[in-house]
Amino acid sequence: MKFQFCLGVLLFFARGVAAQPFQLPTANHAIFEPGGQERYFVPTTGKTWVSGTFGCVRSDGWQMHEGLDIKCLQRDRTGEPVDPVMATADGVVAYVNDKPSLSNYGRYIVILHHIGGMEIYSLYAHLSEVQSGLRVGRAVRAGEKIAVMGRTSNTRERISKERAHVHFELNLFYSDHFNSWFKRRFPGERNDHGIYNGENLVGIDARLILLAEHEEGTRFDLLNWIQHRPDLCRVLVRQTDFPWLRRYPMLIKQGALAPGERAAGYEVALDFNGLPFELIPRPAGSFKGAAKYQLLSVNEAEYTKNPCRRLVTRQGSRWELANNGLNLLDLLTN
Ligand SMILES: [Zn+2]
Repeated sequence: MKFQFCLGVLLFFARGVAAQPFQLPTANHAIFEPGGQERYFVPTTGKTWVSGTFGCVRSDGWQMHEGLDIKCLQRDRTGEPVDPVMATADGVVAYVNDKPSLSNYGRYIVILHHIGGMEIYSLYAHLSEVQSGLRVGRAVRAGEKIAVMGRTSNTRERISKERAHVHFELNLFYSDHFNSWFKRRFPGERNDHGIYNGENLVGIDARLILLAEHEEGTRFDLLNWIQHRPDLCRVLVRQTDFPWLRRYPMLIKQGALAPGERAAGYEVALDFNGLPFELIPRPAGSFKGAAKYQLLSVNEAEYTKNPCRRLVTRQGSRWELANNGLNLLDLLTN
């Protein structure tokens, strides 16, 4: 008993020391090699490797790409990609879409991880094959093979053999009430993936995270990284109870209310991709007028750099929440 306990403690520390929050999802490690980007990221046709990374990297900066398009290393005789795809961290399978025709992600897998107390969802798309026996609810270990790379998708323009890649995302999760929001937002449209629709997952920059943890090793702190995103804007919302607050309480700023004061809502800081990375409780006196949302500030430098989600818009000299921003806040707080 005692021996087992000691072994357990030892293993815990061994894992703790070796633990990196995220491992690379394929055998391609060129991201860490000087000048290796071209060998790691798959660009869109005629563009540079940057178009295969996370951010406003498509359509001249006006289209968001929420994942990393990672190059294949191995092909079969017919030129199809056959790289094993591995879980990026320990976790539990949250969703498997085994019907490529139902998504522009094609065949895809979502895995739930708990990192620094936070729910993080990794997503692997365009797969040719899901590892047999991999079902929702199954635990997986970091580095465990979960699938084979492919080029499945339901988009009209198919992914060419040359561009074969796995599309890899790291996400946080907006809302358990996604389905009712989707019905209101897209009446009559099908949602085949329920709460694991890509629209309910908000991406964080997996390239920057992988590079930071490669550089910082065990000092890398994902929560701290998320808390230090540049803000695109800050918005007051008149809501004191919504799923994000319960799922990500570590993002709520403590000590913002005076003793005895009660929160009537939250000041929410959004990054350019719509990630609510800081939530500050605010008392009733902070809210003016009857509007559901009140735009407090816009970081113009950040908007100039990363405008593609179109969350805010300038009307003359005034900034306003754009439709995308309003829809996102509805999803977040519904
Ligand atoms: Zn992609």
